[in-house]
Amino acid sequence: MENVKGKVIAITGASSGIGEAMARHLAALGAKVSLGARRMERLEDIVEDISNNGGQAICKKLDVTQPDEMKDFVEFTLERFKTLDVFINNAGLMPLSMINAYKIEEWHRMIDVNIKGVLHGIAAALPYFEEKDKGQFINITSVGDRWVGPTSTVYSSTKFAVRAISDGLRQEVSDNIRVTIVAPGATESELAETISDPELKEMAINQFRTNLLPAAAIARAVAYAVSQPTDVDVNELVVRPTAQKSF
Ligand code: NDP
Repeated sequence: MENVKGKVIAITGASSGIGEAMARHLAALGAKVSLGARRMERLEDIVEDISNNGGQAICKKLDVTQPDEMKDFVEFTLERFKTLDVFINNAGLMPLSMINAYKIEEWHRMIDVNIKGVLHGIAAALPYFEEKDKGQFINITSVGDRWVGPTSTVYSSTKFAVRAISDGLRQEVSDNIRVTIVAPGATESELAETISDPELKEMAINQFRTNLLPAAAIARAVAYAVSQPTDVDVNELVVRPTAQKSF
């Protein structure tokens, strides 16, 4: 795909689901991918697979809640691949619950990973993008960045925040730095595993998380945004399963 081959792309939360699918797809298109997440064995297996298929991939342990680890992740990518073209803020979790279940620890974790993690990614990669006056952020939000319903209040609020951060960033940076959000609908991944209430988890999986998109569908949308010429900034892509009508 035009403009993807040879690009260096760093991806947070690349150990499963959408992050893994993006790593595999972008590498297959000729990008050099740098994978970060906490589960190193998963990352190492993905890197090995990509390499066995002729792609170029590296990985580093990363907890996005730690700004220093994010900086190290960007430095590691620059050391190994000599440049950075695209930074994908993808890591996230979705422990849905009603507000009056008072799962305060889970609220904090969502805010730490889904919002602060994205800010840490921006803080780590933006100085390099500004130095070379070129680069692209892709922030994976959710249809929950524009929709809220019972049990998704805190999760959606984190995604509303990332949408706002992305649009503010887009306006603040130079004319040569692109900012894209990709908002997936229900997609195959391990995301529902983060729901701690067993009844809610079952309901989410059996009622709401049916007709799932393959994670590769989101990877293709991301590749499209990356593939555009530098003066074309795809600001938002919302990708739902065709049968997902209500949210
Ligand atoms: P998964 O649970 O499969 O993947 C989540 C990824 O985030 C994992 O690789 C996990 O890696 C990583 N992660 C979680 N916490 C941290 C952390 N503290 N530091 C670093 N990495 C972390 O779910 P998805 O692939 O679905 O999720 C990817 C993104 O897509 C999320 O932002 C999610 O909100 C969004 N999304 C997903 C939808 C879906 O239906 N699947 C719909 C809408 C949006 P590890 O545990 O190894 O650290």
